[in-house]
Order: sequence, then C-alpha cells, then structure tokens
Amino acid sequence: MTRQAITLIGGGLVGALVAQLLAKRGFSVEVFEKRPDPRRIGHIRGRTINLALAERGLQALRTAGLAERALQKSVMMRGRMVHPLDADPGLQRYGVDDNEVIWSISRSGLNSLLIDAAEAAGVTFHFGQSLAAADLDSQRIALTDEHGVRREHNASLLIGADGAGSALRAAMNAYQPLGICVEPLGHGYKELEIPAMAGSERFAIEPHALHIWPRASYMSIATPNISGSFNVTLFLPLHGPHPSFDTLPDAAAASAFFRQEFPDLYPQMPRFAEDYDSHPVGTIATLYLDSWHIDGRAVLLGDAAHAIGPFHGQGMNCGFEDAVVLTDLLAASKRDAADAFEEFQRIRKPNSDAIAAMTQENYIEMRDSVADPHYLAKLELGKQLARLAPRYFMPRYRLVTFTLLPYAYAYERGRAQDQLLEQLLRDAPNPHDVSLDAAVATLKATLPRLPPLRSVDAAEVALRPTTQEQKLPMSRFAYPGLASAGQARGNQ
Ligand code: FAD
Repeated sequence: MTRQAITLIGGGLVGALVAQLLAKRGFSVEVFEKRPDPRRIGHIRGRTINLALAERGLQALRTAGLAERALQKSVMMRGRMVHPLDADPGLQRYGVDDNEVIWSISRSGLNSLLIDAAEAAGVTFHFGQSLAAADLDSQRIALTDEHGVRREHNASLLIGADGAGSALRAAMNAYQPLGICVEPLGHGYKELEIPAMAGSERFAIEPHALHIWPRASYMSIATPNISGSFNVTLFLPLHGPHPSFDTLPDAAAASAFFRQEFPDLYPQMPRFAEDYDSHPVGTIATLYLDSWHIDGRAVLLGDAAHAIGPFHGQGMNCGFEDAVVLTDLLAASKRDAADAFEEFQRIRKPNSDAIAAMTQENYIEMRDSVADPHYLAKLELGKQLARLAPRYFMPRYRLVTFTLLPYAYAYERGRAQDQLLEQLLRDAPNPHDVSLDAAVATLKATLPRLPPLRSVDAAEVALRPTTQEQKLPMSRFAYPGLASAGQARGNQ
C-alpha cells in the first residue's frame, strides 16, 4: 500500500487532517477542494465561525503533532453558562476541574493550520476545484473550476471528505446504492455576533463558557473567539407556528422577539439587524449510510459519511477520529484497500450511529432539560456518584467529551447509568435525600468498573470487565468488541 497515490476530495477540517496523516505515512496525496484557499480569504460566509474542540479531536491533533498550536488559537470553555429567562445565569461545569474543558477554535484558523501542516508533509492542494463527476469503472474524475473550466484526473484510490453534501457520495451512490438515509431535524440556525468590547479585545460576557439561553422549543448559544467576540447561534424550528424562522423572516420581526425572549443577550448585539438580515438560515439533518465505500476504490469519512447536528459539538471531533483510524488501517496493513475500508466502516459506523443518537438527545437537553428540576436532580446525584465512585460512574457528557472510549460504549453506559439514577430518585426525588452509601453499593452491584478512559479500541474496552459486562444493557447499536468477545448483547 505504501507510496500509493490517493485522491482526496475536500480540503476542509477532516480532509486536510487525513491528508497530512496519510502523507506522513508515506502516501502520495492530492487534494481537490471546491473553495478558494482559506489562508488567502479567511472566514467563508455561510460557514460556522467557531467550533468546540474536545478530547477526541485533540487526540487526533496530537497524532498530527498540532495539538499545542491548535490550543494556542483557542479559548477554554469550562461549562455551560445557562441564562434562564427569569433568573440569574449560572455555570454548570462540564467536568470536575480545568483538566476537563472544551476549546472554542476558529474554523478557518484550524483549517489553515491543517492545510499548512499537510503541505509541509508533502500534500498537493488544488483549490477552487470542485468534483463534478467520478467514473468508478475507468477510475477517472472530472473537476470544474469557478469559471466552469473542466479537467480530468486519474483517481485509482478516492477518499471523500467533501462534507454533508458530498459530490463523491452522490457519484458512488449512482454507481452502487449506498443506502442513504437523511433525517432532517426540522430546526435551522442563524449566526449572529456579540462583538468585542469597543476598542479592545475584551469579552462582553464571561469568556470561559459556552453560553446557553434555553427556551424549551428553541435556544440561542454563544461561544467565544480569541479576538474577544462571541459567535451567537439561534436554533429555531424552520416552519410552523411562532416562533419559527417562518414567523421571524427578518430583523424587524426578530428584534421584538429577541428583546422579549433574550433580554440579556439582545443588547450585546449592536449589529443584530444587519446580521439577522444578511446571514442565511442553515438547516440541520442527520445522515446515515449503510455503506461507506465501494470495494477498494472509494471511501467516505467525516460529514460525507455521517453528518450530525451540532448539539454535542462532536461532528468535527468524530471526523478527526475517523481520520486517524482510516490512516492506521491503510498504512499498517498489507491487505488491499477494500479490506481496510471494510474494517474502517465496521469500527466506525457503530460509533457514528451512537454519537448521532446522543446528539439528538443533547439538543433536547440543551434547549429544555438544563432548566428542568428533575434533570438537575439527576445531574447532582450523578456528580456525587462520580465523586464517590469515579471508577464506576462518569456522566455521559464526560464520557463523550473527555475520554477516548468508543462513542457506542459511552451511549450504552450512559443509558445504564441513567436508568440507575432514575431508580435512585424514584423514592427520593431530592438528590440530597438519597443515601449515598447505599447508592454507591447499588452502583457497584449493578455496573462493571469503567474501562481505562483512554481505550480507543472497542475490543479492548469490552474485554476488561469480563463477567460483569453482561449486566450492562445493550440496545440497537452493534458493539463489535462485545460480539467478538462472545459476550451477551442483550436486547439489541
Ligand atoms: P466540511 O467541514 O463540510 O468540509 C468539506 C469540504 O469539502 C469543504 O471544504 C468543502 O468546500 C469541500 N467540498 C464540498 N463539495 C466539494 C466538491 N464537490 N469538490 C471538492 N470539494 C468539495 N463539530 C464539532 O466537533 N464541534 C462543534 O462545536 C461543532 N459545531 C457546529 C456548529 C454548526 C452550526 C454546524 C453546522 C456544525 C458544527 N460541527 C461541530 C460539525 C462540524 O462542522 C463538521 O462535523 C465538520 O466540519 C466536518 O468536517 P468535514 O471536513 O467532514 O466536512
């Protein structure tokens, strides 16, 4: 496999990372990217300005030798600063201390860093080149530039990192159906801004937090930029009764709504009207494919294979994990690419399915549950159990965000832990009335110890707690490690 030529479609976050990783392992990589070079033009209108980088993404950047440089461009976020309508804002920490935080980083800044590193590793980028067609029989692709000028290129091994609207996916699907399923969320988003304080790079609100204004069926969030500004995102139903983007088509209608529903946010956005009227409404959908590859000729990763909503801040993080796994499989094995692609899908698909499900649940949690007393009671009891029995209980958000345990494991473990919390709070709805000694005893009798938190391999995770593993209820997500270890799969 070494020195094999790879044609990569899409030089976004995942494409630029996988290009660098592959080049470092000896592959000859050419990238065709539809847009102009982000290092020349900076932020692209219509794309999110910043993203939350968590442990999985950081680990991939460590593999690429870029974690420190990425962190230097980031703002630390310790937790959710929740802004209720009728009470003071309060911080809900994500982790136990500042070792468990997430990082807000500029998309274009990170993309530029990744492209620089890929070029330094020997990757050739062709910007302004959009995939127009792919002939998988003759293994040739056609590309067009912004003037419609067409060129052709040989592509014996194609990798698609061209995002949720992937053109390579469409070409592969036309050649051999991939089993594409798109589930629109019915909600959309619009990006606004809190600028830095006049004449300085100081933040107008607390910088080290992801701010949330939960309003049950909709919400706004704000994430900090290193320049002192905040990227504000309004999430709202696209259609239907008020409030929806249908009923708030322009700033004239939206101003009154914002003044009433987000009274501490609205005054911080002096360019509200201009931003609201000029920024597009983005749509959100979850994408599932039955198959991510066509034998050894073409494979998809990142959003092209499994786009998800933004509510767990994991789309890029998940795509970065894909990049590391795919590179390792292609580089380490003497098998042909078809085997590597099949193994890639076998390892990653249960995990991308699991993060898709958790992302949907997190939207409800963010916009609604964070202000719900029962949710807060579970949060508090979970924190106590995590403090008293850290090897047995870790809230799901922390499993997803601060560990490298497979997403599918985090999903199942989270469900089992949630059932336990429900059971403990059934008789004593106030977490302070729960006997913590008894709760810890029940926890230890019900769930196996957590695997080492940096286990990335499902088989390794499954093999740790042998006999007790069967106590963990399994659901519809295939969890390859358990199957191969010959363990119980419960009510899958
Ligand atoms: P993309 O970033 O979409 O890159 C695809 C690239 O392919 C682009 O550069 C595009 O120009 C190029 N391309 C497209 N078509 C063609 C073509 N025909 N030919 C050549 N090139 C092409 N994730 C997180 O981890 N944390 C977050 O906080 C977070 N917040 C988000 C907030 C919002 C509002 C949204 C919508 C998403 C968020 N995500 C977040 C998800 C994250 O943006 C994506 O998962 C990530 O960008 C996927 O990277 P990618 O490289 O696979 O796709």
